[in-house]
Amino acid sequence: MASIRTVLGDVTPDAVGPVMFHEHVLFDIVPPGLDGDRDGPIGIEDRWQMDYRSNESARNALQTDRAVAASELAAYAADGGSLIVDQSVFGLARDMAGLAEASRDSGVHVVAAAGTYVDAYMTPEIRTMPVALLADRFASEVLDGADGTGLRAGLIGEIGCSWPLLPSETRALEASADAQRRTGAAISVHPGRHPDACGQILDILAANGADLSRVVLCHMDRTHPDGAGIEPLLQRGANVEWDFFGIEQSHYWMTDDVELPTDLGRLRLIRDFAARGFADRILVSHDICTKTRLRRWGGHGYGHILRNVRALMQRLDFGADLIGALLRDTPVRLLTLKETAP
Ligand SMILES: [Zn+2]
Repeated sequence: MASIRTVLGDVTPDAVGPVMFHEHVLFDIVPPGLDGDRDGPIGIEDRWQMDYRSNESARNALQTDRAVAASELAAYAADGGSLIVDQSVFGLARDMAGLAEASRDSGVHVVAAAGTYVDAYMTPEIRTMPVALLADRFASEVLDGADGTGLRAGLIGEIGCSWPLLPSETRALEASADAQRRTGAAISVHPGRHPDACGQILDILAANGADLSRVVLCHMDRTHPDGAGIEPLLQRGANVEWDFFGIEQSHYWMTDDVELPTDLGRLRLIRDFAARGFADRILVSHDICTKTRLRRWGGHGYGHILRNVRALMQRLDFGADLIGALLRDTPVRLLTLKETAP
């Protein structure tokens, strides 16, 4: 039977409503080597600046409190959210038991992620692990449970890629393709910050037998900010994701080379690609990975797209079918595990 694998067990697709496909619910994405106070409070007088330059503050880049996670998910449910995917893979403080607790306490379905993030977040053991062992590990996280729990992941990735791609990351992509064949799970990839990154990633996945129609390329907002370079990825059958919704600023904190689109700018690009026949290959999300984007710290929270962006979609004359595809049908299709050969 068709099923979506949540941390509390498998559910049928028809039991699932609106989905946010790329979020972080319990996470520690503090860059290795970044000094500074990890545990201090964030005062209201510092909140905006910390959000604006959000790579500079260690204490903003982690949220590991289960009760806070549950209250943020409850707020998402109040905005109509049904399911959320926490793409915090190994290296980002993945907390399977914490996700199960937050899901139970909030009533929101939570899907956890198999796989590894960029090289800088790997342990020496993972960094040098042969592809076959890495593939066993990723597949086991979906089939048996992750991190020594019996709680299972329902998606592979976000698999972290740098630019240029590092050998450990190439192996993780190769392992993802193998794990996809064995589990039927979709693959999500965090591409390196370069316009050629996504094409190279699809080359590696395809050469290793991945089903590109079940691959999601994340972060179009900063990888292809004006939309140039996306159509060839769609032509190859892949899915693309705008996952910076709620970041309403032009300044991109990771580089001076990119001017970020706003929410309306994102939607105009999405409307163009939908009109060219790719309406069912587009995902939207917030990729929240800092405190200052959560409700508790004055941010927009996981419900912003449902609460605010839906109205912007209507303002730009998105039809009901397109809105339904973006908010539910496409993520549900990708999360539904594909039957694997016995
Ligand atoms: Zn992410």
